[in-house]
Amino acid sequence: MKDLKISVSGVRGIVGESLTPEIALSFAKAFGTHLNHPGRIVVGSDTRASSPLLKHAVISGLIATGYEVIDLGICPTPTVGIMIKELEAEGGVVITASHNPSQWNGLKFMGNQGIFLNEKEGKAFLEIYKDKAFKDLDPKKLKDLKTRTNAIAIHIAKVLKQVNVPLIKKSKFKVAVDACNGAGSVALPKLLVKLGCEVIELYTNPLEPFPRVPEPTPAHLHVLADLVKKKHADIGFALDPDADRLAIISEEGIAISEELTLALATDFILSSYKNISPSKKIVVTNLSTSRVMDDVAKKNRGVLIRTKIGEVHVAEEIQHLKALIGGEGNGGVIFPRVCFNRDSLSAAALILNLLAKENLPISKIVAALPSYYIVKKKITCHTQEEAFEVLDRAEDFFSGEVLDLTEGIKVLLKNAWIHIRASNTEPIVRVIAEAKTKKEAEELADGFIESLKL
Ligand code: MG
Repeated sequence: MKDLKISVSGVRGIVGESLTPEIALSFAKAFGTHLNHPGRIVVGSDTRASSPLLKHAVISGLIATGYEVIDLGICPTPTVGIMIKELEAEGGVVITASHNPSQWNGLKFMGNQGIFLNEKEGKAFLEIYKDKAFKDLDPKKLKDLKTRTNAIAIHIAKVLKQVNVPLIKKSKFKVAVDACNGAGSVALPKLLVKLGCEVIELYTNPLEPFPRVPEPTPAHLHVLADLVKKKHADIGFALDPDADRLAIISEEGIAISEELTLALATDFILSSYKNISPSKKIVVTNLSTSRVMDDVAKKNRGVLIRTKIGEVHVAEEIQHLKALIGGEGNGGVIFPRVCFNRDSLSAAALILNLLAKENLPISKIVAALPSYYIVKKKITCHTQEEAFEVLDRAEDFFSGEVLDLTEGIKVLLKNAWIHIRASNTEPIVRVIAEAKTKKEAEELADGFIESLKL
């Protein structure tokens, strides 16, 4: 169906067009059938107007396949991951379309480790959905629907255990928050108050619609940036609607590239573990995240491991390698001592701990990191086959260079890189390039895109 984007970890669509309650019901039944282990499933949602509609369809599908359902209400995506472990559930469903506009919504599915379904699990689950091979409803074995209202409190308590609360409290930070009226609207201010911060709230009403473009990239955060400056705040935090990504505004009112959230959190964590062997100072990120991560790992004598794109690849590698931290360059920090999901609450607490420890303004801490420029472009193709042809052309175009073929083609140049890969959900090719300047990064990406026209 047009605009229904199905991937191994979930589905997204425009509500009432490509995504309907009937589709949500079928996906939930497929998930309940796939897990095939009696128990409970946790459900949480973001603040979209369509979330209750889809949530009730999902709950119905899960109960129909024999599960007890625990409804967490509105909560960040990582809170669902935490509650799966907390309640020893078999899995979880998050009703959200993350950073997509409000007319979109979606479902994301996690297994019993609180991690999104991986490729193998997702494929098996999608087979069930496509074949409509759902478990039969047994009216004698119907389980309950229960609610839990303390999920956010549990999440916050887990984060607080992992940072130096007295030190952060002593700094009495003034923090401005733009939660896009999303799932972090209540959770992030609550966490900040527990860290002794004065909180200036902007867009933290979960009953109101999204007030800005939901993706927390610098171009969309000017209202928060102005507020930070006007109120003389120490820092500004911006979230996407499901509160797994965190973007930062400096005390000067400048939106810091979202690539730096993970770099700052990583620098703090690696520098805090001075006495462990360098081989255990492991950090995991994906192929398209800034090379500032290589610099931060090197500076702290740590090891940086890169994975394919997709949160689940990073999360599974963190778990497998017992990494200290990891995540993605889009502001998604995964701090495994709290959970195996991108978590804006962990990220915010780690950044404040860094500020308190360094006792410097955030702009000064950022200025000490090497600076790079990333450009992200896409090539729209007619078919998936055409997208793969573009990758073949890339291999020819860059033959002779050092190539990393983990996913698509990543070309490693002396002072720059370019990563060209086909999307899993639509016929497009993503082209991401990073260099020391914007001009060099643009030239690198455009040079390849132009070559396709020859
Ligand atoms: Mg998100």
